[in-house]
Amino acid sequence: MLDDEFPEEVRRLKPRNVRISRHVERLLGDRPSDQMSEVHGTGHSLRPDSDSLNSICCAACGQTEYLSRAHCRCGHYLHGQIEDEYLAWVSNLRDMHEMIARDTERRLKPVRRLSLFAMPLLVGPMFFVFFSTTTSLTDLIWLVPGFAILAVLALADMFISRHTTESSATLETVSFETFLLTRKV
Ligand SMILES: [Zn+2]
Repeated sequence: MLDDEFPEEVRRLKPRNVRISRHVERLLGDRPSDQMSEVHGTGHSLRPDSDSLNSICCAACGQTEYLSRAHCRCGHYLHGQIEDEYLAWVSNLRDMHEMIARDTERRLKPVRRLSLFAMPLLVGPMFFVFFSTTTSLTDLIWLVPGFAILAVLALADMFISRHTTESSATLETVSFETFLLTRKV
């Protein structure tokens, strides 16, 4: 028979419930914990250290509770609370990124204006070298100032934009895992 073909452990396996807060459960290696015993606090009274990554401060009763518990001992839904905190954190990161980007854009305006003014220094000698019938190596020296100024401006552009670049990279790699690891820092 089919039952005889598998060991006892395999036959006992049951499909895991899909939950909204599966991130929390997966990260903390805990199983779904919405039993009534948890809600009404009939379990042990041990509480985590408030500085621990595995702790959360219940918004309803103010007590420190294990993050892996779906509900606080007062009945408050902790997984919902941590998801709200995550969404607020992401929204705050986005706001900060927009603020940094606006500031960078404002500081970059003069640099980009200077680039436009420096362009003739490069384009002029290039035209001269291109259309000249007696082009010599010394004519190429006239290209140097234009290239030098544009290189300096490009470096300045990169320097001013560095915070926006970092902030953008942070936003792209943001995840629930990052939030859980950094929220107590
Ligand atoms: Zn509570």
